[in-house]
Amino acid sequence: MLHHIFDTHAHYDDERFDGDREAVLASLPSKGVHAVLNAACDKKSCLTSIELSRSYDFIYASVGIHPHSADEFSESDTELLAGYTKLPKVVAIGEIGLDYHYDFSPRETQKLVFERQIQLALELDLPIIVHDREAHADTMELLQKYRPRGILHCYSGSAEMAKEILKLGMYIAFGGAVTFKNARKTLEAAAAVPLERLLVETDCPYMTPEPLRGTRCDSSLIAYTAQKLAELHGVDPQQLLDRTCKNAYEVYQIAE
Ligand SMILES: [Zn+2]
Repeated sequence: MLHHIFDTHAHYDDERFDGDREAVLASLPSKGVHAVLNAACDKKSCLTSIELSRSYDFIYASVGIHPHSADEFSESDTELLAGYTKLPKVVAIGEIGLDYHYDFSPRETQKLVFERQIQLALELDLPIIVHDREAHADTMELLQKYRPRGILHCYSGSAEMAKEILKLGMYIAFGGAVTFKNARKTLEAAAAVPLERLLVETDCPYMTPEPLRGTRCDSSLIAYTAQKLAELHGVDPQQLLDRTCKNAYEVYQIAE
């Protein structure tokens, strides 16, 4: 069985796990899951992510305000978030970024809130977890301005943009989308990312890989994603999982 799965981006506080959260989480270690980062997206999920990290040895948390919730951010929240990062298993600021697909918050607000949280991460010397959906140019502009450490999550940009992100020293994470039939552009990008900067993730309960697309996702299904990425890089899936697990420890600065 494949092991050393480090799911660098999950949402186990999502309501789709309300019926069986404890059973799902308890089963993960026996399915090869080594660690999980539960990513916050609003103030409420900062707390639930922290709670999960307290309840399970293998779960870590990030804290941050997602672009969808940018409207709820105020300056005093930087202190709130900074306070949370003093907790031992809070290892990143995220997920933060820009989403011009849904535009749930005005773009100007999204940009201000993203920028403020990048500044916070730099002050705290923490990595960021970036959500970029159909906002590549503005995302790159802010990343190049500040050069933060961290991760481009659920990467959907081009291979060219991936190279620019790698130049900044950042890591790039891929999920179930690499197994989809229309994944050509994403696969080109994934091939351009060297193994030492590659990460795997689910974004569960969303983005379930093929052949299970349409069902609820959990971290064990990274096995399918790893299979695809390993093929692309000409290594075996376990080698890919070993390396991406090591990378996750590096980017989140977790002592092994
Ligand atoms: Zn997410």
